[in-house]
Amino acid sequence: MVEKRYYKPEIERLSREDFLQYQWQQLQRQIRYTYEKSGLCQRQFRQAKITPDDIKTREDFTCKVPCTTKQDLVADQREKPPFGTRLAVREEEIFATYLTGGTSGKGQEVHTATIADWEHWIDAGAMMYVWAGWQKGERAMNPLPLGVTQASRVLQASLERVGCNVFNLGMYDTRTKLEYMKRFQIGIVDTSPSYIEALAYEAEKLGMAPAKDLFVRKIMMAGQAYPISFIGKTEAKWHAVIYDNYAATQGAWGANCEKGPVIDGKRGFYHLYEHFAYQEIIDPETHKPVRPGEVGELVVTPLHQKASPFLRFRMGDKVRYFPHNACDCGRPFALLEAGTIARYDDMMKVKGVNIWPQTVDEIVLIRPECVEYKGRVFLTDAWKEEIEVSVEFRNTVPSEVRRNLLMHISGELHDRTGIRFSLKEAAGELPRYAMKATSLRWTDERVKGLERKPMDRG
Ligand SMILES: [Zn+2]
Repeated sequence: MVEKRYYKPEIERLSREDFLQYQWQQLQRQIRYTYEKSGLCQRQFRQAKITPDDIKTREDFTCKVPCTTKQDLVADQREKPPFGTRLAVREEEIFATYLTGGTSGKGQEVHTATIADWEHWIDAGAMMYVWAGWQKGERAMNPLPLGVTQASRVLQASLERVGCNVFNLGMYDTRTKLEYMKRFQIGIVDTSPSYIEALAYEAEKLGMAPAKDLFVRKIMMAGQAYPISFIGKTEAKWHAVIYDNYAATQGAWGANCEKGPVIDGKRGFYHLYEHFAYQEIIDPETHKPVRPGEVGELVVTPLHQKASPFLRFRMGDKVRYFPHNACDCGRPFALLEAGTIARYDDMMKVKGVNIWPQTVDEIVLIRPECVEYKGRVFLTDAWKEEIEVSVEFRNTVPSEVRRNLLMHISGELHDRTGIRFSLKEAAGELPRYAMKATSLRWTDERVKGLERKPMDRG
């Protein structure tokens, strides 16, 4: 029996009924605020022929208020660059600007935050660390470099909120990170499942056993699905306790309570931060709420966002819903199954960056010398995430031209996405697909890769 670790006991200890009442008040206030301040919201309500007065119940909200999509946000930015008509505060109130990762045919969303918005973000981050048992004074690594996405900045601030002694190692390579981890006996790390494996692999190559020669005893993960066996295996390798959470550029959505990602040998839960955002799990076809145990799409309405508010944003994430009482910790928040979040569309999150296969289509298939390609995302022997693109050329293309083209394509992909692709010539003929059947060209082998045993390593 793990002791309860509350971060906001005044909310976490409410009954579901009382919590829903509290949440409904927040939602009503946020609907009015967004309608008053956001040009995008006013357009959406006009088209749906509604005003905030028409939303008297939760059902009204779900049935009458139109969803917002990534395309809506990008179009809104185009209409009024750079922040869109949804910017709801004066410029001098903006404390932070952050973008969704990866440029692509779909465009990057631009989000802003006031200092109060930022506080809510940090609270959400600190909440998961407290649930995971992280404490004041512990030495923590922030492995993410600072950039225009918010991950590294939020992570840093949230660790500071808990009172951790934070080492910012995002700008260093894996070996240098390990040197710091050893020298300063860093005890906690927040990273992705594949990067924790990459750290272990590199440590072993340097002759260190993570459990014995390093001091990481607490790990927080995010950003990737994993097989359930991964947790026990990795905890043993590091002699550490693992927790997991679910967040995106648009918000922090939930985290494991103190029970962790695996409960009695079964998958545990993300407890949705329903005080931070109103969250619905809907059938993407019928838009009806899914039943317990069913899979649906997450739709979110951040409840406190003042700078760039939006209502009912469709995340495109495929999640499995459970009611709050499926976990017996007593918190009033609805739950998602941990470790299994997938996508409805073909977006892939690689090295924390959103990659759309269309970006690769646009760069490869537009060249008359290229006839087809095949993409694969996998974990290398060193447990690094890698994207490999095999290109098939027309027979008539001479080999030195092929080499040059591969180099050019590689450079262009790097420019567009910010991450490196490994390019090669396809061995033999590839299956042919219609231009639009883009996801068929791709395989994602990462979850399978995390099942590998140490001796499978090359
Ligand atoms: Zn729980």
